[in-house]
Amino acid sequence: MNLTAESHRVPLSDGNSIPLLGLGTYADPQKTPKGSCLESVKTAIDTGYRHIDGAFVYYNEHEVGQAIREKIAEGKIKREDIFYCGKLWNTCHPPELVRPTLEKTLKILQLDYVDLYIIELPMAFKPGDALYPKDENGKFIYHETNLCATWEAMEACKDAGLAKSIGVSNFNRRQLEMILNKPGLKYKPVSNQVECHPYFTQPKLLEFCRQHDIVIVGYSPLGTSRDETWVNVSSPPLLKDPVLNAIGKKYKKTAAQIALRFSIQRGVVVIPKSFNPQRIRENFQIFDFSLTEKEMKEIEALNKNVRYVELLM
Ligand code: NAP
Repeated sequence: MNLTAESHRVPLSDGNSIPLLGLGTYADPQKTPKGSCLESVKTAIDTGYRHIDGAFVYYNEHEVGQAIREKIAEGKIKREDIFYCGKLWNTCHPPELVRPTLEKTLKILQLDYVDLYIIELPMAFKPGDALYPKDENGKFIYHETNLCATWEAMEACKDAGLAKSIGVSNFNRRQLEMILNKPGLKYKPVSNQVECHPYFTQPKLLEFCRQHDIVIVGYSPLGTSRDETWVNVSSPPLLKDPVLNAIGKKYKKTAAQIALRFSIQRGVVVIPKSFNPQRIRENFQIFDFSLTEKEMKEIEALNKNVRYVELLM
């Protein structure tokens, strides 16, 4: 049975739901031709993807918005078919900046709301025009903010209808608990977007999030683009893994498809990035087979507990 990604949605704690497979859209703006994101999101929508993961700080949110609007204009989809996740950047944590920042994203997208808005990282940088503010010694300038106050401003965005759901990213258990235990909490984070794949399976965080109805959205599910400027390339390439390739042979699938299937079978939402039409389609073909319990265990055993994305900042 060739089920579509759209029929595979995970319920969120606020009553909404998130498609298990989405298209990641981070690509180095210096190395990526203009328009590639636009074309890729259009290809993805034509393929059947309904979930797109983006961010203001990816510098291509205007292309994502344009692709969605063009597909709506063509009659291919309706706005409510699409699940777009946007992110609050580190320089915008002060509560008074949260709503204007989301409104700026909506203006860039030319959409009325995002389906999910998440705090991209739990630490804040000095607010201002510089997205990566640094001092004269080249050190990041951090900013003291109260994550709970930022969260209350996120809740207000949901109440205003600007974000259908709200969540977080790169939060550890302690940071999640800070929000969950906040006096007067109105909405729990529906999701936590973190690195997750066969070499970094996050068993403890996954269990904690399960207990609290927080969906894990796994980023870098294929082991990243291995761009040395931000990736720890000392960890071996995931897609060369012999076990993933051997299991792939059995199902006539690629290592990428096996890695993605492993994650969705654990209930982890995946957002593989590809700006290549063939690979966008390949990554979608993960709903027509399933891994046995033994294979799932074999893949789980590949966990190296090493991150590709160390977020040294
Ligand atoms: P990824 O999805 O694990 O891997 C992307 C790389 O794999 C690209 O170089 C892509 O190249 C290649 N690729 C895609 N499909 C493939 C296939 N079937 N076979 C072989 N290679 C394939 O890495 P990621 O971009 O780091 O993570 C995905 C998304 O997660 C990002 O785009 C972003 O939306 C999100 N993310 C969020 C955070 C956060 O802090 N919240 C951090 C990192 C990433 P082509 O484009 O040429 O196909």
